[in-house]
Amino acid sequence: MASATQHFDAVVIGAGFSGMYMLKSLRDTLGLKVRVYEAGETVGGTWYWNRYPGARCDSDAYIYVFTFDKQMLQEWEWSERYPTQPEILRYLEYVAKRHDLKRDIQFSTRVIGGAFDEHTNVWTVRTDKGEAVTARYLIAAVGSLSHTNMPQFKGLEKFKGTWYHTSRFPKEGVDFTAKRVAVVGTGATAVQAIPEIAQQAKHLTVFQRTANYCVPARNGKVDPEVVKARKADYDGIIKRTRESFFGQEHYSIPKSALEATPEEREREFDKRWDAGGFAFWLANYQDMFFSSEANELCADYIRRKIRKTVKDPAVAERLIPQGHYYGTKRQPLDTNYYETFNKDNVLLVDAKTDGAIEEMTEQGLRAGGKEYALDIIVFATGFDAMTGPLKALNLQGRGGRMLDQEWADGPHSYLGISVAGFPNLFTITGPQSPSVLSNMPVSIEQHVEWVSDCIDHMNKTGKTTIEATSQAQEQWVAHVNDIVNLTLMTSANSWYMSANIPGKPRAFLPYLGPEGVGGYRKQCDEVAAKGYEGFVVA
Ligand code: NAP
Repeated sequence: MASATQHFDAVVIGAGFSGMYMLKSLRDTLGLKVRVYEAGETVGGTWYWNRYPGARCDSDAYIYVFTFDKQMLQEWEWSERYPTQPEILRYLEYVAKRHDLKRDIQFSTRVIGGAFDEHTNVWTVRTDKGEAVTARYLIAAVGSLSHTNMPQFKGLEKFKGTWYHTSRFPKEGVDFTAKRVAVVGTGATAVQAIPEIAQQAKHLTVFQRTANYCVPARNGKVDPEVVKARKADYDGIIKRTRESFFGQEHYSIPKSALEATPEEREREFDKRWDAGGFAFWLANYQDMFFSSEANELCADYIRRKIRKTVKDPAVAERLIPQGHYYGTKRQPLDTNYYETFNKDNVLLVDAKTDGAIEEMTEQGLRAGGKEYALDIIVFATGFDAMTGPLKALNLQGRGGRMLDQEWADGPHSYLGISVAGFPNLFTITGPQSPSVLSNMPVSIEQHVEWVSDCIDHMNKTGKTTIEATSQAQEQWVAHVNDIVNLTLMTSANSWYMSANIPGKPRAFLPYLGPEGVGGYRKQCDEVAAKGYEGFVVA
């Protein structure tokens, strides 16, 4: 190992939304010496890497922002309800410039290991550039969906065409004109990419393993009067989203779907369907996530919409999800997704009815015993979510404990922000925090501010280590599971349940409630107010 040359108060891994704000907070608010390492060439994190056609934000842009700088909230103008990936990247570049962040970020550098020294109470952090630095605090701001899941398809090396994973798309883009293209996967990414690729490609074949319930995004220009009103009400918006369940301005109907009359239900469903975005998912009847009967009413509404939109009844039936409850997998937002299957140049190959993918061949892909000739394959196969990026950091805590081994049976964290045996390590939007079940910037800002306050407290009280106790951690893990076990979420083979990666132990990865991000914020604040209850501070 290279010898440590430089010492920092904190090393932050990642320069997406989390890492950028963590740097700002520790450096400019607390005056600490901070180094950020980022594998990409610039800021952006998920918005740097995910450049596939159609990539755009699924949260309304007015809440998909930093709120720590009130002037930025007034100055920045989004061009649409859901901005595209390049526009979000421009926003993050603007933030980086305005707050002069880049001077403390080392780009094109991946952290490949970190070890806590129990004698000196510092972390040594190693990078793929052969560098090693030390730091009192190590903050993983690595994102929840940043570790690519590229399944080991048999014969991929034989394929003579080109292939891409959506999360590692080439910067210069891909020209699909006159090409025979396949998209593998039908999650939120594919649902955005498929309509775009279908417009360009000579022919598109979509390989679906599990159909998803998609609802309309309803993207478009936002009425300038609405924009103005929102800008005037940002203090209110910030308060409401922070206190809300999902970090969004969506509120469920305080009634059982089963108590509503069919007419009333249809009206409420129509309202949410017409509003677009996450309204149908996150602002539906309160028992939708708990009661299979209530859930079935929501699912039935979407099934009727699919049958109405997709012209070929056989294709429509294949696009109708089977075997999981509505909303238990991440809601994909649809802009011409179902309509795309009405196009003559688009073919759906469904694993359940047509046969699963068997192998890649020289000329394309074989599924259900049939070979499909292809020039380009786009894998929209997702991520080793939440634990994947942290396990890949190769972190060593007390007594030589390795994080990936500690989490061999699933994540164990306290509040989703710290891990017993790993002092002074913080995980921004880590597993077992609301994270991916919320509007990310709301949860990111909450974690960053909590960590920053904690480090400030440590410095002011002359303490050097903070570490979750195993007892507090195991209580938290049990609490996370007890709550989610009351819902339908655990029944789905979703990435929330770690079920998308072969061999990944089945465990619910985020934290759901009981009072959402608002309640979780209160819990974190109470822990701090009680002198960091559940932590050993020394
Ligand atoms: P995903 O939801 O995990 O979907 C992956 C797709 O690939 C699924 O259809 C999956 O089928 C399929 N698949 C995986 N392995 C396969 C295999 N071996 N053979 C055949 N099919 C396979 O991944 P994603 O669509 O990239 O989305 C991940 C998350 O990223 C989303 O849920 C969302 O949180 C986030 N995202 C956000 C935005 C946004 O806000 N702008 C946009 C896109 C994505 P199964 O369902 O059967 O596993």
